[in-house]
Amino acid sequence: MKVFTGRLINCVVIQAALPLECEYLVGLLVNVQQETRGGWVFWRGEYQGMDLIVSKTRMGLSNAAAATAIAIERYQPRAIINQGTSGGHNPDLNVFDIVLGLETTNFGMVKTPFSERGAGSNSLHWHEAFDMLPDDESDPEPIRKRYYPADAALLTAARAVKQTYAQGQVVEGVIGSADCWNNELDRIAFLREMYGTEVEEMEAASVAQIAQQYGVPMMAIRVVSNNITNGGAYNPDTGKACQDFVLQVVAQYLRT
Ligand code: SAH
Repeated sequence: MKVFTGRLINCVVIQAALPLECEYLVGLLVNVQQETRGGWVFWRGEYQGMDLIVSKTRMGLSNAAAATAIAIERYQPRAIINQGTSGGHNPDLNVFDIVLGLETTNFGMVKTPFSERGAGSNSLHWHEAFDMLPDDESDPEPIRKRYYPADAALLTAARAVKQTYAQGQVVEGVIGSADCWNNELDRIAFLREMYGTEVEEMEAASVAQIAQQYGVPMMAIRVVSNNITNGGAYNPDTGKACQDFVLQVVAQYLRT
């Protein structure tokens, strides 16, 4: 098993689920070391004086949670940015637009209404969200939406470099996560109405859930790589655009 050597000072972890969301960043690092824990790969290196760890979480909530817990336990990062591609829920967003996650939420955690055998299933009736981090742990059915806010300093840094992004607009809002790729337009509209989501993806809220419990500053930044609400076709080049922008955010964060 490969293990990092040397002391980590104030490192920032930048996460991505897919190779196309992290390969560009890894290629920029100098003095790179690679570490693998279980199924999760981490690259540590420097970029313009910044001590960075790029983490490939792989897809989905469980992978993202595990990679986050490992990173926090092993590297004590100063902050975590979860970044990568996403699918638009807001028809005003175009492919290459970037969403600064003011908040993230897991829209897959629901309690469905009862219906009889043979009555079918309709996710447009799923109005009850389950809170995964209830203050009162004795409540077995905490019916409540749970939003994880972005760290204020990370958000300030991201706002400060908004203008540097030339490939689309940079907006702010809710990023929704679930182990699900939604292609039903009615379902997407329902989710946007119920949770206020700008985009959906499969990791951010899970990372936020773990980071919050460790008290580690975290923020999600997602590029729109596809948006079926307005015919925006999937473009994998958005992965690099997002990494480029996130580097600006991290540089600004570490400057201030
Ligand atoms: N289409 C990709 C395959 C991965 S899709 C490809 O051909 O390379 C799933 C990953 O992309 C997840 O990590 C998720 O966070 C992100 N993602 C992008 N668009 C999404 C969408 N519309 N719904 C859910 N996840 C999406």
